[in-house]
Amino acid sequence: FDMFVLAFVERLFRPTFRKDDFVLGKKLGEGSFGVVYRASLSKKRASEESEYVLKKATEYGAVEIWMNERVRRACGNSCADFVYGFLEKSSKKGPEYWLLWKYEGESTLAGLLQSREFPYNVETIILGKVQDLPKGLERENIIIQTIMRQLLFALDGLHSTGIVHRDVKPQNIIFSEGSRAFKIIDLGAAADLRVGINYIPKEFLLDPRYAAPEQYIMSTQTPSAPSAPVAAALSPVLWQMNLPDRFDIYSIGLIFLQMAFPSLRSDSSLIQFNRQLKRCDYDLTAWRKLVEPRASPDLRKGFELLDLDGGIGWELLTSMVRYKARQRISAKAALAHPYFDRQGLLALSVMQ
Ligand code: ADP
Ligand code: MG
Repeated sequence: FDMFVLAFVERLFRPTFRKDDFVLGKKLGEGSFGVVYRASLSKKRASEESEYVLKKATEYGAVEIWMNERVRRACGNSCADFVYGFLEKSSKKGPEYWLLWKYEGESTLAGLLQSREFPYNVETIILGKVQDLPKGLERENIIIQTIMRQLLFALDGLHSTGIVHRDVKPQNIIFSEGSRAFKIIDLGAAADLRVGINYIPKEFLLDPRYAAPEQYIMSTQTPSAPSAPVAAALSPVLWQMNLPDRFDIYSIGLIFLQMAFPSLRSDSSLIQFNRQLKRCDYDLTAWRKLVEPRASPDLRKGFELLDLDGGIGWELLTSMVRYKARQRISAKAALAHPYFDRQGLLALSVMQ
């Protein structure tokens, strides 16, 4: 009860917005459930902070607002800064929800990964200037470690709050220029298991390129969504039983893979990788045995990078990309993995 009163009071003192307050700019994205624009405040409110991202969403917008409000209070650093959400109008097409975030910057991890410069382009934006340091594999490894640590940190925040994102992919990771760190965006497919919001998985929302093999995040034995109070009491137990957070871990593992292997960064090569891995029964070691003997130089480079320091990177990767959810490492345990022990991280210590 107190939580709701606090949330209400907090929201009462935040600035509110209406449709007329905004001038829409460039379209940043368009999905089946909404359109995303860059937006700024119209003249009459121009004295306030002015760079925003605005999403016009369909009926699912209500859940997305709820998720963003919860994240904002419980683990604000994990995700893009949410400002406000409101119901704009109900037309023939149904309700239209508007969601507003601070504009975090122009770089998504997807964009950064597509550049030939990756991972040095990330080093540049994290440090603010180009470093005059050797550009060997060691250096690339340090940058990738730094990104992985930031991603796992953000994900651990969500999971500790009881939220599973379910759509973790490079397109949904933004580099926040203000905090000089990566943050997660797009809670449109997220599930809050502690209160049963969006409890039944909307599998149709899941992106097959990054989705773990399990179709249902909760076991199919779990009955359909119980009422909120029942779910609140049950869900820590269900969480333990089903480890739904490990769905996101699989996705983060695939992102780790794409960062390490330049030749797996395109959509088509990732899809091909997924097919190969499936044929190997989701056993990464078997996949390695299959492809390594006739590996291209780009592929070999990935193995070399993950084999540094006694193969500690490869060890972490294989503990994330596993068929069985319960055999995958948690975000918290991954952060404590020896992969992150190395001195090298300190070189990029600006981050969190
Ligand atoms: P969609 O449902 O269309 O996937 P997203 O929430 O993922 O909506 O946003 C679409 C795109 O808009 C993102 O991929 C990103 O490029 C951009 N974007 C979203 N939120 C922000 C933000 N807070 N700051 C900067 N860019 C953002
Ligand atoms: Mg998205």
